[in-house]
Amino acid sequence: MSMKDQLSDKSIVCEAVHKSFGEVHALWPTSITIRAGEFVTLLGPSGSGKTTLLNIVAGYLDPDGGRVLLGDRDLTRLPPRQRNIGMVFQNYALFPHLNVFENIAYGLRVRSQPADEIRRRVQDALTMVKLDGLARRTIHQLSGGQQQRVALARAMVIEPDLLLMDEPLGALDRQLRKHVQLEIRRLHLASRRTTIYVTHDQEEALVMSDRIAVMSQGRIEQVGTPTELYSSPRNRFVATFLGESNLLPVEICERTGSETEFKVRGLEQSWRIAHHDQTPEHAEALLLVRPEDFRVVGADQPAIVGHVTEIVYLGELTAFRIRLAGDHEIWMRQMKLPGLQVGEPVRIGWDTASVRLLETK
Ligand code: ATP
Repeated sequence: MSMKDQLSDKSIVCEAVHKSFGEVHALWPTSITIRAGEFVTLLGPSGSGKTTLLNIVAGYLDPDGGRVLLGDRDLTRLPPRQRNIGMVFQNYALFPHLNVFENIAYGLRVRSQPADEIRRRVQDALTMVKLDGLARRTIHQLSGGQQQRVALARAMVIEPDLLLMDEPLGALDRQLRKHVQLEIRRLHLASRRTTIYVTHDQEEALVMSDRIAVMSQGRIEQVGTPTELYSSPRNRFVATFLGESNLLPVEICERTGSETEFKVRGLEQSWRIAHHDQTPEHAEALLLVRPEDFRVVGADQPAIVGHVTEIVYLGELTAFRIRLAGDHEIWMRQMKLPGLQVGEPVRIGWDTASVRLLETK
């Protein structure tokens, strides 16, 4: 494959697509644009509508309304085989009676490509997924990771405008998953093929994606880069689904032009935070503090007092469970904090630039 062949210049646009099964709204009207060459992950718990949205893009499901555009082409009513889309599934869906070569060649044979063209492209695809030399193996002679790479090669060899992957690593053990995640990421960076990837595994989404769309109950809650979603989640669902979080109930005392002053419920100390795009309007809110953003502070700084109730060693980091005044409990993660023992008093503050106020719902 030449570089020109590999570069995908097609964006995909979903405009208010929706789908119900009887009473169940599998997908509420949903719009999202995936830019040309971008790797976007649909991330959400089971039943949140990820596969429904992916299948609408693939053409396996007819939406009840809305449009799907690939570049400037309206795909909405086209059957799957006319969409030039490569699909990779969790169960690989390889043909057990065909060898590796023939599995990868399948899509090219269906498209009646000449024999030497097929040989060349399959060979390139084998090299791309590092399976050189295994072309004549049968599928059952391969490991799970190798089978998944065959599935990937088979989807890529047709040079699709769009690559769709539905939980492709679900059947692999943790070690192999991590390895293949990085391989898929590298392949993507080399080929820059527009890709939509479905997973319920937040770590996988963070490692692989240019942007992530977090889904819940048939809706996209937020779309952003991994950093944006982690540091600026729009609501409680996104904050808790992506990464570890502490949510402390707070009362808003005052809003000035640029800052909000609040108190953690039940405590006297007040704090200030700069307004951010989602600062809640109501008197009650939640303060989001990531475990790494807590600080042990000195007597001269504002703090909530507490004591350590549990210490968990996590390798390079240590997690401290701390019961705070006001009957709040938090988890803090730090590099080593020498001398901090279970039962000891601590004074806790946070890095003001990193915390956020969220709506309580
Ligand atoms: P998972 O991670 O478990 O695959 P998902 O996020 O992909 O979940 P979907 O498969 O899109 O979720 O399902 C969304 C909702 O639509 C669920 O409540 C599901 O039960 C329902 N649903 C999906 N397909 C059908 C169908 N063919 N008939 C009836 N209900 C369906």
